[in-house]
Amino acid sequence: MEIRIGIGYDLHRLVNERKLFIGGIEIPYLKGLLGHSDADVLIHAICDALLGAIAKGDIGELFSDTDPKYQDIPSTELLKIVLGLVRKQGYEISNLDTVIIAEEPKLLPFKKRIQESLSSIMKVDKNCVGVKAKTNEGLGELGRKEGIACFATVLIKKES
Ligand code: MG
Repeated sequence: MEIRIGIGYDLHRLVNERKLFIGGIEIPYLKGLLGHSDADVLIHAICDALLGAIAKGDIGELFSDTDPKYQDIPSTELLKIVLGLVRKQGYEISNLDTVIIAEEPKLLPFKKRIQESLSSIMKVDKNCVGVKAKTNEGLGELGRKEGIACFATVLIKKES
């Protein structure tokens, strides 16, 4: 069995007049994340973790933020493309763990839905999908509610 791990990180700025997407679901909030796609910061961190695990660069290399093709695209579509690359190399996802750092909105009521959403998009049992939400204790840019950041790790495996 060949196993590999990957780590991903992303941060997006919170702005007015954008919808907020985290983990493939829309979360009601007065602001949303700024970005070329729908700016789903958690999905982007997961894409980078997967790309890291197969040593294929990062999401910015794969999906240019100047390409009109990706303008306002649901990030779940980008994740499906990345999953295709991982599976093409013969890997399956063992498990995934994530951290969302958001001062606001409170994500506790949405964690279960985020977990189910990731489980369904990634075709991984939801018992293998970790979703954790933290605040930044009021410190720094994240603490001032200027943005939301995420970390993700994945473990992938294939029979060798
Ligand atoms: Mg991003």
